[in-house]
Amino acid sequence: MVKDPVCGMTIEESNAAATEEYQGSTLYFCSDSCYSKFQANPAQYVQPGATADSE
Ligand SMILES: [Zn+2]
Repeated sequence: MVKDPVCGMTIEESNAAATEEYQGSTLYFCSDSCYSKFQANPAQYVQPGATADSE
């Protein structure tokens, strides 16, 4: 299960309407609408360094 960064919905990878490679991670979107919103302003939906704490 993965989280759609736009709406916060949890989805199955196989059910994702769209995917995007962003800063080395694959993001999954529940709908084309969420994907379009992400593409319009990626930085709004991804917190820089959010996954870097584990290093
Ligand atoms: Zn969504």
